[in-house]
Amino acid sequence: MIPLHPVPEAKHTCPFCQTLLEPRGWHIPGMRNLAELVCSACGREFYGDLTAGQALYTPLLLEKKTGVVHDVYGIDWFAEWLRESYAARKDYSIPFEVQERSTVTQPVVLLNCLDTLYGHCLLKLLNAQHYLDHRPDVDLIVMVPSFLEWMIPDGVSQVWVVDLPLRQGTEWNDWLAREIRHHLQPFTTASLSVAFSHPHPDDFDIERFTGVKPFPLDEWPTDIEQPAVTVIWREDRLWRNERQPASRGLDKIKRQFTFEERPAKIQAELVVALAEALRQEWHDLDFAVVGLGRSEKLPDWINDLRENELNTDRERQWCARYAATHVVVGVHGSNMLLPSAHAASVVELIGEDRWGNFLQDILFRPGDSREMFFRYRFIEDDVSASRLARLLTSLLRGLPKFRFLMAPRFCKHGIDYELLR
Ligand SMILES: [Zn+2]
Repeated sequence: MIPLHPVPEAKHTCPFCQTLLEPRGWHIPGMRNLAELVCSACGREFYGDLTAGQALYTPLLLEKKTGVVHDVYGIDWFAEWLRESYAARKDYSIPFEVQERSTVTQPVVLLNCLDTLYGHCLLKLLNAQHYLDHRPDVDLIVMVPSFLEWMIPDGVSQVWVVDLPLRQGTEWNDWLAREIRHHLQPFTTASLSVAFSHPHPDDFDIERFTGVKPFPLDEWPTDIEQPAVTVIWREDRLWRNERQPASRGLDKIKRQFTFEERPAKIQAELVVALAEALRQEWHDLDFAVVGLGRSEKLPDWINDLRENELNTDRERQWCARYAATHVVVGVHGSNMLLPSAHAASVVELIGEDRWGNFLQDILFRPGDSREMFFRYRFIEDDVSASRLARLLTSLLRGLPKFRFLMAPRFCKHGIDYELLR
């Protein structure tokens, strides 16, 4: 926890004098948690990131007068969000609802889950459980964008629901900063949660957030007769046809002229081809498609649960579907967070352009490390439907045998094997 109120703890150095800056106060105009800082040597004033979320790795410094962002980390995207939001500072009211779920009796800690990326918001929220389970000496306030309200776990003292769409998630809004100050000021002291960007799987239990119990891993049948397979659909990042070039540079131009006025159509064909191939293996296959965008019609025998926009009821229904799924399949991205947290196993399609973000979108269900390799597979995003079907078949049929071969009784020394016969 980072001391926040009344005076935050922040270690930033004046880029001109190399002197440690003096924290004077704090300002939270949105996703950014900032210390107000002054240089005692040159008198310059700054805003410095408090070390939460991405700023835990790369806390940046912004000069108040000039708007210049001092970025010693070379983290361009994070610096740009700060620079641009400050240059275009807003001051307008947005819906801000305070839900008092229990009486606050202790010092408070604020978990700020605002962000411009869906996955970032969700991952920050998963930090809530740590305070609920391990910090009985503090009361937790969670600030979330409204689309995450349904995932607030029991035990949170206050929920601040901010109706801030993702596309405005980087915005610097001084009205919002005043509102946050107004609600935090009554508390004598307040801390800020570090809001880890990649919380450890041991530190949260997804059921506490979604209310849905994940697939019981020990109930995977020995001889699977009706596998449940769920494809995660999105239309802004696609399962590419193996003939389709990656959408980069010249390739991108070539793609515009050679393929796909309707790329989602090709993706739909691939999904249907995958389902058809699996149906050859299992006549009673339970195959569903879940996700955002409904631009192509799917055959009636596919359980089509897609939506054009996120809505809470549907999201709960999606989680229930993941939790009944033997294997979820989808392209890399935050679309895989909740599916991977609930389903028994995952096959992810990941292109070279996403290698740098490997595993950041997977919420692992911890277990034996060898079995984890078996249950989490990663394959190129231009894989053909038939090859993907073979991989899924191998996984669906192979898990029981794999578990048998790797069972503790066959790899722990000191067991009397005569007794096992
Ligand atoms: Zn200075």
